[in-house]
Amino acid sequence: MGQTLKLLIIEDSQDDFLLVERHLRQQGLNVSCSRVDSAEALERALDDDDWNLVLSDFTVPGLDFKDSFSMIRSRLPDLPVILVSGSVGEEQAVELLKLGVHDFVLKDKLTRLVSAVQRSLKDKRELEERRRSEELLRESEERYRTILQTAMDGFWLMDTQGNLLEVNETYCRMSGYNAQELLAMRINELVAEITSDDISARIKNLMELVEGRYESRHRRKDGNIYDVEVSSQYRPVEGGRLVIFLRDITERKQAEKELHKKNAEIEQFIYTVSHDLRSPLVTVKTFMGYLEKDMVENNQEQLAQDIKYIHGAADKMKLLLDELLELSRIGRIETPQVSVSLMEVLVEVLNDLAGIITEHQTDIQLPDTDLMLFGDRSRLCQIWQNLIENAIKYSRENSIPRIELGVCPVGGETVFFVKDNGIGIDPHYQSRIFGIFEKLDPKSPGAGMGLSMVRRIVEKYGGRIWVESEGIGKGSSFLFTLPQALVPDVKQ
Ligand code: ADP
Repeated sequence: MGQTLKLLIIEDSQDDFLLVERHLRQQGLNVSCSRVDSAEALERALDDDDWNLVLSDFTVPGLDFKDSFSMIRSRLPDLPVILVSGSVGEEQAVELLKLGVHDFVLKDKLTRLVSAVQRSLKDKRELEERRRSEELLRESEERYRTILQTAMDGFWLMDTQGNLLEVNETYCRMSGYNAQELLAMRINELVAEITSDDISARIKNLMELVEGRYESRHRRKDGNIYDVEVSSQYRPVEGGRLVIFLRDITERKQAEKELHKKNAEIEQFIYTVSHDLRSPLVTVKTFMGYLEKDMVENNQEQLAQDIKYIHGAADKMKLLLDELLELSRIGRIETPQVSVSLMEVLVEVLNDLAGIITEHQTDIQLPDTDLMLFGDRSRLCQIWQNLIENAIKYSRENSIPRIELGVCPVGGETVFFVKDNGIGIDPHYQSRIFGIFEKLDPKSPGAGMGLSMVRRIVEKYGGRIWVESEGIGKGSSFLFTLPQALVPDVKQ
Protein backbone atom coordinates (compact mmCIF):
# COMPACT_ATOMS: atom_id res chain seq x y z
CA MET A 1 0.00 0.00 0.00
CA GLY A 2 1.27 3.42 -0.94
CA GLN A 3 1.48 6.56 1.06
CA THR A 4 -1.62 7.48 3.11
CA LEU A 5 -3.77 10.04 1.34
CA LYS A 6 -5.19 12.76 3.52
CA LEU A 7 -8.69 13.55 2.38
CA LEU A 8 -10.85 16.36 3.67
CA ILE A 9 -14.54 15.52 3.26
CA ILE A 10 -17.19 18.24 3.46
CA GLU A 11 -20.28 16.28 4.33
CA ASP A 12 -23.16 16.75 6.77
CA SER A 13 -24.10 13.07 6.82
CA GLN A 14 -21.87 10.80 8.90
CA ASP A 15 -23.29 7.81 7.04
CA ASP A 16 -22.38 9.18 3.64
CA PHE A 17 -18.95 10.04 4.97
CA LEU A 18 -18.40 6.47 6.18
CA LEU A 19 -19.75 5.14 2.94
CA VAL A 20 -17.27 7.10 0.88
CA GLU A 21 -14.41 6.22 3.19
CA ARG A 22 -15.24 2.53 3.14
CA HIS A 23 -15.59 2.58 -0.62
CA LEU A 24 -12.21 4.13 -1.15
CA ARG A 25 -10.55 1.67 1.22
CA GLN A 26 -12.28 -1.25 -0.42
CA GLN A 27 -10.92 -0.05 -3.71
CA GLY A 28 -7.43 -0.32 -2.25
CA LEU A 29 -6.72 3.33 -1.50
CA ASN A 30 -4.89 4.01 1.72
CA VAL A 31 -6.83 7.00 2.98
CA SER A 32 -7.17 8.98 6.14
CA CYS A 33 -10.41 10.94 5.98
CA SER A 34 -11.64 13.87 8.11
CA ARG A 35 -15.13 15.23 7.95
CA VAL A 36 -16.20 18.88 8.35
CA ASP A 37 -19.71 20.25 8.06
CA SER A 38 -19.42 23.94 8.94
CA ALA A 39 -17.58 26.99 7.69
CA GLU A 40 -15.65 27.31 10.98
CA ALA A 41 -14.55 23.67 10.88
CA LEU A 42 -13.48 24.05 7.25
CA GLU A 43 -11.56 27.22 8.08
CA ARG A 44 -9.72 25.38 10.88
CA ALA A 45 -9.07 22.33 8.71
CA LEU A 46 -7.45 24.52 6.04
CA ASP A 47 -4.81 25.60 8.56
CA ASP A 48 -3.23 22.28 7.65
CA ASP A 49 -1.64 22.47 4.27
CA ASP A 50 -0.93 18.79 3.77
CA TRP A 51 -4.31 17.72 2.40
CA ASN A 52 -4.14 15.72 -0.77
CA LEU A 53 -7.72 16.24 -1.88
CA VAL A 54 -11.14 17.59 -0.92
CA LEU A 55 -14.36 15.68 -1.52
CA SER A 56 -17.35 17.91 -1.04
CA ASP A 57 -21.08 17.40 -0.96
CA PHE A 58 -23.05 20.07 -2.79
CA THR A 59 -25.69 20.72 -0.19
CA VAL A 60 -24.48 20.98 3.36
CA PRO A 61 -26.81 22.97 5.60
CA GLY A 62 -25.23 26.32 6.53
CA LEU A 63 -22.32 25.83 4.13
CA ASP A 64 -22.86 26.88 0.56
CA PHE A 65 -20.67 24.90 -1.84
CA LYS A 66 -19.47 27.96 -3.73
CA ASP A 67 -18.46 29.63 -0.47
CA SER A 68 -16.52 26.65 0.74
CA PHE A 69 -14.92 26.26 -2.71
CA SER A 70 -13.70 29.87 -2.80
CA MET A 71 -12.43 29.53 0.78
CA ILE A 72 -10.37 26.51 -0.27
CA ARG A 73 -9.06 28.28 -3.38
CA SER A 74 -7.95 31.33 -1.46
CA ARG A 75 -6.20 29.30 1.26
CA LEU A 76 -4.80 26.38 -0.76
CA PRO A 77 -5.04 27.25 -4.46
CA ASP A 78 -3.66 23.98 -5.80
CA LEU A 79 -5.75 21.59 -3.68
CA PRO A 80 -8.08 19.62 -6.01
CA VAL A 81 -11.79 19.52 -5.12
CA ILE A 82 -14.14 16.77 -6.29
CA LEU A 83 -17.85 17.28 -5.89
CA VAL A 84 -19.60 14.17 -4.54
CA SER A 85 -23.27 14.86 -4.69
CA GLY A 86 -26.72 13.27 -4.86
CA SER A 87 -27.48 14.94 -8.15
CA VAL A 88 -25.93 17.56 -10.38
CA GLY A 89 -27.67 19.09 -13.34
CA GLU A 90 -25.79 19.35 -16.62
CA GLU A 91 -25.74 23.15 -16.64
CA GLN A 92 -24.58 23.24 -13.07
CA ALA A 93 -21.85 20.73 -13.82
CA VAL A 94 -20.48 22.90 -16.62
CA GLU A 95 -20.58 25.95 -14.36
CA LEU A 96 -18.74 24.09 -11.60
CA LEU A 97 -16.04 22.84 -13.94
CA LYS A 98 -15.54 26.38 -15.17
CA LEU A 99 -15.19 27.48 -11.58
CA GLY A 100 -12.29 25.08 -11.18
CA VAL A 101 -13.92 22.06 -9.56
CA HIS A 102 -11.83 19.12 -10.58
CA ASP A 103 -14.49 16.53 -11.14
CA PHE A 104 -17.88 15.45 -9.90
CA VAL A 105 -19.20 12.04 -8.92
CA LEU A 106 -22.74 11.08 -8.09
CA LYS A 107 -23.24 9.42 -4.74
CA ASP A 108 -25.10 6.54 -6.32
CA LYS A 109 -22.28 5.99 -8.84
CA LEU A 110 -19.35 5.84 -6.43
CA THR A 111 -17.55 3.39 -8.72
CA ARG A 112 -16.23 6.46 -10.59
CA LEU A 113 -14.83 7.95 -7.41
CA VAL A 114 -11.52 6.06 -7.32
CA SER A 115 -10.57 6.98 -10.88
CA ALA A 116 -11.64 10.59 -10.28
CA VAL A 117 -9.47 10.72 -7.13
CA GLN A 118 -6.52 9.18 -8.92
CA ARG A 119 -6.81 11.57 -11.86
CA SER A 120 -7.07 14.59 -9.59
CA LEU A 121 -4.02 13.51 -7.65
CA LYS A 122 -2.11 12.98 -10.88
CA ASP A 123 -3.15 16.46 -12.10
CA LYS A 124 -2.07 17.93 -8.78
CA ARG A 125 1.32 16.29 -9.02
CA GLU A 126 1.79 17.53 -12.55
CA LEU A 127 0.72 21.03 -11.57
CA GLU A 128 3.20 21.03 -8.71
CA GLU A 129 5.98 19.84 -10.98
CA ARG A 130 5.14 22.51 -13.56
CA ARG A 131 5.14 25.13 -10.84
CA ARG A 132 8.50 23.89 -9.59
CA SER A 133 10.10 23.95 -13.02
CA GLU A 134 8.62 27.39 -13.73
CA GLU A 135 10.10 28.58 -10.46
CA LEU A 136 13.49 27.03 -11.32
CA LEU A 137 13.36 28.65 -14.73
CA ARG A 138 12.50 32.01 -13.22
CA GLU A 139 15.33 31.69 -10.72
CA SER A 140 17.79 30.70 -13.40
CA GLU A 141 16.67 33.60 -15.64
CA GLU A 142 17.08 35.95 -12.73
CA ARG A 143 20.53 34.56 -12.04
CA TYR A 144 21.47 34.89 -15.71
CA ARG A 145 20.24 38.48 -15.80
CA THR A 146 22.14 39.38 -12.61
CA ILE A 147 25.31 37.86 -14.02
CA LEU A 148 24.90 39.76 -17.28
CA GLN A 149 24.14 43.05 -15.62
CA THR A 150 26.99 42.83 -13.13
CA ALA A 151 29.51 41.37 -15.60
CA MET A 152 32.71 43.35 -16.13
CA ASP A 153 32.34 42.75 -19.86
CA GLY A 154 29.81 44.26 -22.19
CA PHE A 155 27.15 41.90 -23.53
CA TRP A 156 25.10 41.64 -26.73
CA LEU A 157 22.46 39.19 -27.79
CA MET A 158 22.12 39.57 -31.52
CA ASP A 159 20.02 38.00 -34.27
CA THR A 160 21.52 36.86 -37.54
CA GLN A 161 20.55 40.12 -39.24
CA GLY A 162 22.80 42.12 -36.93
CA ASN A 163 20.01 43.56 -34.77
CA LEU A 164 20.72 43.87 -31.07
CA LEU A 165 18.11 42.09 -28.95
CA GLU A 166 19.68 42.51 -25.54
CA VAL A 167 22.56 44.51 -24.07
CA ASN A 168 23.86 44.92 -20.52
CA GLU A 169 24.70 47.92 -18.36
CA THR A 170 28.44 47.51 -18.92
CA TYR A 171 28.06 47.82 -22.67
CA CYS A 172 25.88 50.91 -22.21
CA ARG A 173 28.65 52.46 -20.13
CA MET A 174 31.31 51.41 -22.65
CA SER A 175 29.46 52.77 -25.68
CA GLY A 176 27.82 55.84 -24.13
CA TYR A 177 24.38 54.81 -25.48
CA ASN A 178 21.46 53.76 -23.30
CA ALA A 179 19.84 50.35 -23.72
CA GLN A 180 16.86 51.74 -25.59
CA GLU A 181 19.09 53.44 -28.16
CA LEU A 182 21.19 50.32 -28.56
CA LEU A 183 18.21 48.04 -29.10
CA ALA A 184 17.20 50.19 -32.07
CA MET A 185 20.68 49.92 -33.61
CA ARG A 186 22.47 47.49 -35.89
CA ILE A 187 26.05 46.44 -35.33
CA ASN A 188 27.53 48.46 -38.22
CA GLU A 189 26.68 51.60 -36.23
CA LEU A 190 28.80 50.34 -33.33
CA VAL A 191 31.64 48.39 -34.91
CA ALA A 192 34.05 50.88 -36.44
CA GLU A 193 35.38 48.70 -39.17
CA ILE A 194 32.19 47.28 -40.73
CA THR A 195 29.67 48.86 -43.07
CA SER A 196 26.03 47.83 -43.49
CA ASP A 197 27.12 45.84 -46.58
CA ASP A 198 29.61 43.83 -44.51
CA ILE A 199 27.13 42.76 -41.83
CA SER A 200 25.90 39.56 -43.42
CA ALA A 201 29.41 38.42 -44.33
CA ARG A 202 30.62 39.15 -40.78
CA ILE A 203 27.69 37.31 -39.23
CA LYS A 204 28.08 34.35 -41.57
CA ASN A 205 31.68 34.18 -40.51
CA LEU A 206 30.74 34.20 -36.80
CA MET A 207 28.12 31.51 -37.37
CA GLU A 208 30.64 29.27 -39.13
CA LEU A 209 33.18 29.81 -36.37
CA VAL A 210 30.55 28.82 -33.75
CA GLU A 211 32.91 30.06 -31.05
CA GLY A 212 35.37 32.84 -31.72
CA ARG A 213 37.65 35.29 -29.95
CA TYR A 214 39.10 38.28 -31.75
CA GLU A 215 39.96 41.96 -31.42
CA SER A 216 37.89 44.71 -32.94
CA ARG A 217 37.38 48.48 -32.77
CA HIS A 218 34.11 50.06 -31.70
CA ARG A 219 32.73 53.56 -31.98
CA ARG A 220 31.31 55.36 -28.92
CA LYS A 221 28.34 57.67 -29.06
CA ASP A 222 30.76 60.63 -28.93
CA GLY A 223 32.49 59.29 -32.04
CA ASN A 224 35.66 58.10 -30.28
CA ILE A 225 37.03 54.76 -31.38
CA TYR A 226 38.09 52.23 -28.75
CA ASP A 227 39.61 48.75 -28.79
CA VAL A 228 37.58 45.74 -27.71
CA GLU A 229 38.23 42.06 -27.31
CA VAL A 230 35.23 40.08 -28.53
CA SER A 231 34.22 36.56 -27.65
CA SER A 232 31.27 35.30 -29.66
CA GLN A 233 29.22 32.16 -29.64
CA TYR A 234 26.60 31.12 -32.18
CA ARG A 235 23.50 29.31 -30.91
CA PRO A 236 21.11 27.77 -33.42
CA VAL A 237 17.96 28.69 -31.48
CA GLU A 238 15.03 30.94 -32.38
CA GLY A 239 16.30 31.42 -35.93
CA GLY A 240 19.92 31.81 -34.77
CA ARG A 241 21.34 33.91 -31.98
CA LEU A 242 24.84 35.28 -31.37
CA VAL A 243 25.92 35.66 -27.76
CA ILE A 244 28.70 38.20 -27.63
CA PHE A 245 30.89 39.46 -24.80
CA LEU A 246 32.95 42.60 -25.32
CA ARG A 247 35.86 43.77 -23.21
CA ASP A 248 37.26 47.29 -23.44
CA ILE A 249 41.00 46.78 -23.97
CA THR A 250 41.96 50.38 -24.74
CA GLU A 251 44.10 50.61 -21.62
CA ARG A 252 45.77 47.28 -22.33
CA LYS A 253 46.53 48.37 -25.89
CA GLN A 254 47.95 51.64 -24.60
CA ALA A 255 50.09 49.76 -22.06
CA GLU A 256 51.32 47.44 -24.83
CA LYS A 257 52.30 50.45 -26.91
CA GLU A 258 54.11 51.99 -23.93
CA LEU A 259 55.87 48.72 -23.29
CA HIS A 260 56.97 48.57 -26.91
CA LYS A 261 58.30 52.09 -26.67
CA LYS A 262 60.08 51.33 -23.39
CA ASN A 263 61.60 48.16 -24.84
CA ALA A 264 62.86 50.10 -27.84
CA GLU A 265 64.29 52.71 -25.47
CA ILE A 266 66.00 50.02 -23.38
CA GLU A 267 67.45 48.46 -26.51
CA GLN A 268 68.75 51.85 -27.62
CA PHE A 269 70.04 52.47 -24.09
CA ILE A 270 71.98 49.19 -24.00
CA TYR A 271 73.37 49.84 -27.45
CA THR A 272 74.52 53.35 -26.54
CA VAL A 273 75.98 52.30 -23.19
CA SER A 274 77.98 49.46 -24.67
CA HIS A 275 79.08 51.61 -27.59
CA ASP A 276 80.18 54.53 -25.44
CA LEU A 277 81.90 52.39 -22.85
CA ARG A 278 83.77 50.55 -25.53
CA SER A 279 85.73 53.53 -26.86
CA PRO A 280 87.64 54.33 -23.59
CA LEU A 281 88.15 50.60 -23.19
CA VAL A 282 89.67 50.39 -26.66
CA THR A 283 91.89 53.33 -25.73
CA VAL A 284 93.04 51.53 -22.57
CA LYS A 285 93.76 48.32 -24.46
CA THR A 286 95.64 50.08 -27.26
CA PHE A 287 97.81 52.06 -24.87
CA MET A 288 98.48 48.99 -22.74
CA GLY A 289 100.01 47.49 -25.90
CA TYR A 290 102.13 50.61 -26.38
CA LEU A 291 103.01 50.55 -22.74
CA GLU A 292 104.42 47.02 -23.01
CA LYS A 293 106.42 48.00 -26.06
CA ASP A 294 107.71 51.21 -24.51
CA MET A 295 108.67 49.37 -21.34
CA VAL A 296 110.77 46.90 -23.34
CA GLU A 297 112.37 49.80 -25.16
CA ASN A 298 112.60 51.76 -21.90
CA ASN A 299 111.18 54.82 -23.64
CA GLN A 300 110.38 56.90 -20.56
CA GLU A 301 108.85 59.79 -22.41
CA GLN A 302 106.38 57.60 -24.31
CA LEU A 303 105.67 55.59 -21.16
CA ALA A 304 104.43 58.71 -19.39
CA GLN A 305 102.34 59.59 -22.43
CA ASP A 306 100.79 56.08 -22.54
CA ILE A 307 99.90 56.22 -18.87
CA LYS A 308 98.33 59.64 -19.34
CA TYR A 309 96.07 58.26 -22.07
CA ILE A 310 95.15 55.24 -19.97
CA HIS A 311 94.31 57.52 -17.04
CA GLY A 312 92.22 59.76 -19.27
CA ALA A 313 90.27 56.79 -20.66
CA ALA A 314 89.74 55.35 -17.18
CA ASP A 315 88.46 58.74 -15.95
CA LYS A 316 86.06 58.90 -18.89
CA MET A 317 84.76 55.41 -18.05
CA LYS A 318 84.35 56.38 -14.43
CA LEU A 319 82.40 59.47 -15.41
CA LEU A 320 80.14 57.45 -17.71
CA LEU A 321 79.54 54.79 -15.07
CA ASP A 322 78.88 57.36 -12.32
CA GLU A 323 76.34 59.13 -14.49
CA LEU A 324 74.72 55.84 -15.47
CA LEU A 325 74.40 54.92 -11.84
CA GLU A 326 72.84 58.30 -11.10
CA LEU A 327 70.39 57.89 -13.97
CA SER A 328 69.33 54.48 -12.71
CA ARG A 329 68.77 55.91 -9.23
CA ILE A 330 66.10 58.36 -10.42
CA GLY A 331 62.73 56.96 -9.54
CA ARG A 332 64.30 53.98 -7.80
CA ILE A 333 65.54 55.61 -4.65
CA GLU A 334 62.68 57.23 -2.82
CA THR A 335 63.36 60.35 -0.81
CA PRO A 336 60.61 61.93 1.23
CA GLN A 337 58.45 64.40 -0.69
CA VAL A 338 58.40 67.90 0.70
CA SER A 339 56.67 71.18 0.03
CA VAL A 340 59.09 73.74 -1.24
CA SER A 341 58.68 77.04 -3.06
CA LEU A 342 60.06 77.36 -6.57
CA MET A 343 62.10 80.38 -5.40
CA GLU A 344 63.75 78.32 -2.67
CA VAL A 345 64.76 75.71 -5.24
CA LEU A 346 66.17 78.35 -7.58
CA VAL A 347 68.12 80.14 -4.84
CA GLU A 348 69.62 76.84 -3.67
CA VAL A 349 70.70 75.96 -7.21
CA LEU A 350 72.17 79.41 -7.90
CA ASN A 351 74.15 79.22 -4.66
CA ASP A 352 75.57 75.86 -5.68
CA LEU A 353 76.49 77.24 -9.08
CA ALA A 354 77.90 80.51 -7.71
CA GLY A 355 81.44 79.60 -8.87
CA ILE A 356 80.65 79.01 -12.54
CA ILE A 357 78.13 81.87 -12.60
CA THR A 358 80.71 84.36 -11.41
CA GLU A 359 83.43 82.89 -13.59
CA HIS A 360 81.31 83.52 -16.70
CA GLN A 361 79.87 86.81 -15.39
CA THR A 362 76.46 85.35 -16.05
CA ASP A 363 73.40 87.55 -15.98
CA ILE A 364 70.49 85.63 -14.45
CA GLN A 365 66.91 86.82 -14.39
CA LEU A 366 64.61 85.24 -11.80
CA PRO A 367 60.81 84.97 -11.98
CA ASP A 368 58.51 86.80 -9.58
CA THR A 369 56.53 83.86 -8.25
CA ASP A 370 55.26 82.30 -5.03
CA LEU A 371 54.56 78.97 -6.70
CA MET A 372 54.85 76.00 -4.38
CA LEU A 373 56.13 72.61 -5.45
CA PHE A 374 55.77 69.24 -3.80
CA GLY A 375 58.38 66.58 -4.43
CA ASP A 376 61.88 65.34 -3.87
CA ARG A 377 63.75 68.60 -3.23
CA SER A 378 67.14 67.48 -4.51
CA ARG A 379 65.65 66.06 -7.76
CA LEU A 380 63.76 69.30 -8.36
CA CYS A 381 67.03 71.19 -7.84
CA GLN A 382 68.81 68.76 -10.17
CA ILE A 383 66.52 69.74 -13.08
CA TRP A 384 67.29 73.44 -12.76
CA GLN A 385 70.94 72.88 -12.00
CA ASN A 386 71.51 70.85 -15.18
CA LEU A 387 69.64 73.29 -17.38
CA ILE A 388 71.35 76.39 -15.92
CA GLU A 389 74.76 74.72 -16.12
CA ASN A 390 74.16 73.89 -19.79
CA ALA A 391 72.96 77.41 -20.49
CA ILE A 392 76.28 78.67 -19.17
CA LYS A 393 78.37 75.85 -20.68
CA TYR A 394 76.89 76.32 -24.15
CA SER A 395 77.06 80.09 -24.20
CA ARG A 396 78.59 81.88 -27.18
CA GLU A 397 82.26 82.75 -27.02
CA ASN A 398 83.01 86.33 -26.05
CA SER A 399 79.48 87.12 -24.98
CA ILE A 400 77.93 87.40 -21.56
CA PRO A 401 75.55 84.53 -20.88
CA ARG A 402 72.07 85.90 -20.21
CA ILE A 403 69.70 83.38 -18.68
CA GLU A 404 66.05 83.84 -17.89
CA LEU A 405 64.39 81.42 -15.46
CA GLY A 406 60.61 81.40 -15.37
CA VAL A 407 57.21 79.81 -15.07
CA CYS A 408 54.07 80.66 -17.02
CA PRO A 409 50.68 79.17 -17.76
CA VAL A 410 50.32 77.80 -21.31
CA GLY A 411 47.08 76.22 -22.49
CA GLY A 412 46.03 75.13 -19.02
CA GLU A 413 49.49 73.82 -18.15
CA THR A 414 52.15 75.32 -15.91
CA VAL A 415 55.31 75.50 -17.99
CA PHE A 416 58.76 76.16 -16.51
CA PHE A 417 61.58 77.41 -18.67
CA VAL A 418 65.30 78.17 -18.83
CA LYS A 419 66.05 80.54 -21.68
CA ASP A 420 69.57 81.42 -22.80
CA ASN A 421 71.30 83.49 -25.45
CA GLY A 422 73.85 80.75 -26.11
CA ILE A 423 75.01 78.76 -29.14
CA GLY A 424 71.51 77.50 -29.96
CA ILE A 425 70.59 74.07 -31.30
CA ASP A 426 69.98 73.01 -34.86
CA PRO A 427 66.25 72.05 -35.08
CA HIS A 428 67.26 68.64 -36.50
CA TYR A 429 68.94 67.65 -33.26
CA GLN A 430 66.46 69.08 -30.80
CA SER A 431 64.91 65.76 -29.76
CA ARG A 432 68.18 63.80 -29.92
CA ILE A 433 69.90 65.74 -27.15
CA PHE A 434 67.60 64.19 -24.50
CA GLY A 435 68.98 60.73 -25.31
CA ILE A 436 71.64 59.14 -23.18
CA PHE A 437 75.26 60.06 -24.05
CA GLU A 438 74.02 62.41 -26.78
CA LYS A 439 76.30 65.40 -27.36
CA LEU A 440 76.19 67.63 -30.37
CA ASP A 441 79.86 68.41 -30.05
CA PRO A 442 81.85 65.28 -29.15
CA LYS A 443 84.69 67.44 -27.89
CA SER A 444 82.56 69.26 -25.35
CA PRO A 445 83.08 68.26 -21.70
CA GLY A 446 80.50 66.10 -19.97
CA ALA A 447 79.09 62.66 -20.63
CA GLY A 448 75.97 63.72 -22.53
CA MET A 449 73.80 62.43 -19.71
CA GLY A 450 72.54 65.65 -18.09
CA LEU A 451 69.45 66.08 -20.25
CA SER A 452 68.55 62.34 -20.08
CA MET A 453 68.61 62.68 -16.32
CA VAL A 454 66.49 65.83 -16.41
CA ARG A 455 63.99 64.08 -18.71
CA ARG A 456 63.80 61.06 -16.36
CA ILE A 457 63.01 63.33 -13.40
CA VAL A 458 60.47 65.38 -15.34
CA GLU A 459 58.71 62.21 -16.53
CA LYS A 460 58.66 60.92 -12.98
CA TYR A 461 56.46 63.90 -12.16
CA GLY A 462 54.19 63.14 -15.12
CA GLY A 463 55.69 65.94 -17.18
CA ARG A 464 57.53 66.40 -20.47
CA ILE A 465 60.52 68.43 -21.58
CA TRP A 466 61.35 69.98 -24.92
CA VAL A 467 63.64 72.59 -26.39
CA GLU A 468 62.90 75.53 -28.64
CA SER A 469 65.70 77.16 -30.61
CA GLU A 470 65.65 78.91 -33.92
CA GLY A 471 69.03 77.40 -34.75
CA ILE A 472 72.74 77.78 -34.33
CA GLY A 473 73.72 81.05 -32.64
CA LYS A 474 70.11 81.90 -31.78
CA GLY A 475 69.99 80.82 -28.12
CA SER A 476 67.77 78.06 -26.68
CA SER A 477 64.82 77.72 -24.37
CA PHE A 478 64.35 74.51 -22.43
CA LEU A 479 60.71 74.13 -21.36
CA PHE A 480 59.20 71.53 -19.07
CA THR A 481 56.10 70.66 -17.07
CA LEU A 482 55.83 68.95 -13.67
CA PRO A 483 52.10 68.27 -13.21
CA GLN A 484 52.54 65.89 -10.29
CA ALA A 485 54.79 68.28 -8.40
CA LEU A 486 52.32 71.13 -8.50
CA VAL A 487 50.52 71.90 -5.27
CA PRO A 488 46.83 72.24 -6.13
CA ASP A 489 44.81 75.37 -5.29
CA VAL A 490 47.84 77.61 -5.05
CA LYS A 491 47.47 80.79 -7.00
CA GLN A 492 50.15 80.99 -9.65
P1 ADP B 1 76.39 67.26 -21.70
O1 ADP B 1 76.16 68.68 -21.40
O2 ADP B 1 77.04 66.49 -20.58
O3 ADP B 1 77.03 67.01 -23.03
P2 ADP B 1 73.53 67.06 -21.80
O4 ADP B 1 72.69 65.85 -21.87
O5 ADP B 1 73.30 68.01 -20.69
O6 ADP B 1 74.99 66.51 -21.83
O7 ADP B 1 73.35 67.82 -23.16
C1 ADP B 1 73.36 67.12 -24.37
C2 ADP B 1 73.82 68.01 -25.50
O8 ADP B 1 72.81 68.98 -25.78
C3 ADP B 1 75.03 68.83 -25.19
O9 ADP B 1 76.21 68.09 -25.44
C4 ADP B 1 74.88 70.00 -26.12
O10 ADP B 1 75.35 69.66 -27.40
C5 ADP B 1 73.38 70.20 -26.20
N1 ADP B 1 72.90 71.27 -25.27
C6 ADP B 1 72.41 71.11 -24.03
N2 ADP B 1 72.05 72.31 -23.50
C7 ADP B 1 72.30 73.24 -24.41
C8 ADP B 1 72.11 74.66 -24.49
N3 ADP B 1 71.61 75.35 -23.48
N4 ADP B 1 72.47 75.28 -25.62
C9 ADP B 1 73.00 74.61 -26.65
N5 ADP B 1 73.18 73.27 -26.67
C10 ADP B 1 72.84 72.58 -25.57
